[in-house]
Amino acid sequence: MRQPKIVIVGAGLVGGTAALFCAVAIPSAQIVIIDVERIRAEGQALDLAHASAFWGHDRFYPGDYDLAGDADIVVITAGAGVKPGMTRLDLAQINARIATDIVERIAPLAPEAIYVLAANPCDVLAHVVYDRLRCGRERVISTGTTLDTARLRALLSERLSVVSPAIHAYVLGEHGESALIHWSRASVSGMPLDAFLAQTGKELGPASRDLILRSVHEAAKLIKEGKGATHYGIGSAIGRICQAIVHNSDTILPVAIVHAEVEGVPEVCVSLPMRVDGSGARLVAYPELTAGERKALQRSARAVKEATEGVLGSNKASGPKTSPSRRRAAKGAAR
Ligand code: NAD
Repeated sequence: MRQPKIVIVGAGLVGGTAALFCAVAIPSAQIVIIDVERIRAEGQALDLAHASAFWGHDRFYPGDYDLAGDADIVVITAGAGVKPGMTRLDLAQINARIATDIVERIAPLAPEAIYVLAANPCDVLAHVVYDRLRCGRERVISTGTTLDTARLRALLSERLSVVSPAIHAYVLGEHGESALIHWSRASVSGMPLDAFLAQTGKELGPASRDLILRSVHEAAKLIKEGKGATHYGIGSAIGRICQAIVHNSDTILPVAIVHAEVEGVPEVCVSLPMRVDGSGARLVAYPELTAGERKALQRSARAVKEATEGVLGSNKASGPKTSPSRRRAAKGAAR
């Protein structure tokens, strides 16, 4: 049987950590690592080969785009960092150009690939990639609020003294400031959160819930103050998404695709609980929301839509950056 091929573009902290989680979660996978700085991809692959030797995986291939042929999954973690004086829109435009260039190189070689966008702003970049490929919506996935949801569950686990797998609670919307917590349908140990709180005598009032949301939003800032970058959480989330795709396991994860419409906002890439399997990510059931949650999700969808239009508009205005032959090849490969 063919070994699944995962191509990770961007061999920095996030790309390297994602490669390690993928190797441990999917021992049969071939993992190709590509970076604009080839030497960085080579260094990561060597270090990873040593790390994963204990876990039964030995197939890391650093190199160039020619190794991406027939990729099953392409993970994009390549991106510029924020530089002094740079706005969020500047960064989004630069990373959108990087993502577009990567997709145009890979699409002709791997026409069936599923894309996983982790570079930021991941929801906007996923929309840009989908816009370029015009493939099935399910095939371009933003890691979305998987990381925010992991942060939420870690906080609740500590607060409620229950292991996080027993907690079902999602962060929805944008991976960013406007995200919301779907409190009304949160459950712990198989019972609604409020029933669990009542039985255990624990308290989680409006002020505590606001504080938890703020802590989810500010987690990245706190981690960066301590160690300079965040990469284990997102690396683990990428590993889990890739595992669900390769194992075709119908896992429910809060990832984002470009939805036809969310709370009245058309064509928008925000996170909802999605089924992730071998064909990508699909919405199987729209979450039941309170009126307040609907409003918050609509606000979040509008924020992502506005950011996306800023990037798509400026990309169109500045014109394509690639050669006509590469554009033709990418178009032919898109479904
Ligand atoms: P990093 O600087 O360590 O790595 C980025 C890598 O991308 C570098 O190795 C760089 O050489 C490479 N690169 C840049 N342009 C490229 C191109 N055109 N082609 C190929 N490679 C290219 O950064 P990092 O800490 O690994 O973060 C990567 C991205 O992940 C950032 O955008 C960051 O904001 C994002 N991130 C997302 C989440 C999330 O939840 N989605 C969480 C953490 C970080």
